[in-house]
Amino acid sequence: MVSEYLLEKIEGYLQENQTAMVDFLRDLVNLEGKHGEKAHLLKTAGFLREKFEEIGLATDVIEVGAENAPIVTGVLNPDAPGKEILFTGHYDTVFAAGSRGEKPFYIEDGKAYGPGVCDMKGGITIAYFVVKALGEFGFTDAPVRLFFVGDEEVNHQGGNAIAQFKAFTKDILVAFNMENRYESGELCVGRKGCYEFKCIVHGVAAHPGHAYDDGRNAIEEMSHKVIGLQAVTPKETDRDYSVNVGTITGGTVVNGVPDYCEAMIDVRVKSFAALDACQKKMEEVCAETFIEGTTTELILSDPMIPFESTEAVLHAYGVVKAVSDQIGGTVTGSISVGGSSDAAYIAANGAKVVCQCGATGAFTHNIREYSHVDSLYEAVRLFVCTVYSYPLFR
Ligand SMILES: [Zn+2]
Repeated sequence: MVSEYLLEKIEGYLQENQTAMVDFLRDLVNLEGKHGEKAHLLKTAGFLREKFEEIGLATDVIEVGAENAPIVTGVLNPDAPGKEILFTGHYDTVFAAGSRGEKPFYIEDGKAYGPGVCDMKGGITIAYFVVKALGEFGFTDAPVRLFFVGDEEVNHQGGNAIAQFKAFTKDILVAFNMENRYESGELCVGRKGCYEFKCIVHGVAAHPGHAYDDGRNAIEEMSHKVIGLQAVTPKETDRDYSVNVGTITGGTVVNGVPDYCEAMIDVRVKSFAALDACQKKMEEVCAETFIEGTTTELILSDPMIPFESTEAVLHAYGVVKAVSDQIGGTVTGSISVGGSSDAAYIAANGAKVVCQCGATGAFTHNIREYSHVDSLYEAVRLFVCTVYSYPLFR
């Protein structure tokens, strides 16, 4: 049970830190940076490191690759017994620095605007001020870690952050991933996986005038494959997987039979089992040859695994929801969504994790992005109480 005493302490803390939280979010948003802008992201990493050290966390900056921004992590109570409680997130955004002018952060009518203000610098702000509160309140029962990556929006391509996620979440009590909450108020317990496939058809080049019959038209063969691949998607709307041929290129000149055609395919799956079923059907489509003399390859080029609603995930969600109900919080329920997040890697490790624990807002990955300033205070209150309820996660 959350005590009245704790709630009063949090109330005082929030009043005291109201300005500091907005300042923290403002500075974080104004630092900007997307993957590929390492100088900007290094400034953000430096800012976080400094802030972590300010509140006495044992802090580490972990390099994950030459092109990739590092992981910034810090832990409160590193020597406390028991398993770690983790707050995870990413400090990269999808917006190029300067795309909205200098110092793009502003507040209007209770909403904060700026690149990444919702996805997910609001969540980083919440997590930081939760851990700061725990330190000031003298919470020493368990280690509590902040763990922020800088290359989430490109699914950690070219670096080893995924391996670091696996290492850091192998034996934890619970993790809260600080992606933004929707305005409808649910926490997230499932996300579809996203897999990119490349389909390549090899044909035989020939002159379409005097050697027409020697040619094997790769575009024609691909046309059959495209129809077949699209048809792999089940008709019902609550489907377990979907296949979308997104781009197609082939041929070089109009007066030649094309010997090459490739298509890029986006596949969304609800589970690993769904991926298996879907991939098998796609392979069957590609194995059938319509024009003799052509060959077809199907290559998986970029995987983002599904965030499965495991028993561990639902347990963790149940605890947070119960705490929210007890303190009159704003969590309305649970939700499964389409887009992917790092919660998937944590759940796949068998760990307890809840996603979308961050700021409430809308229009992520969009110039109109905002988050509600009040939702930051509300989430700090919820997650301080949730950490104090840590035995319920066992
Ligand atoms: Zn995000």
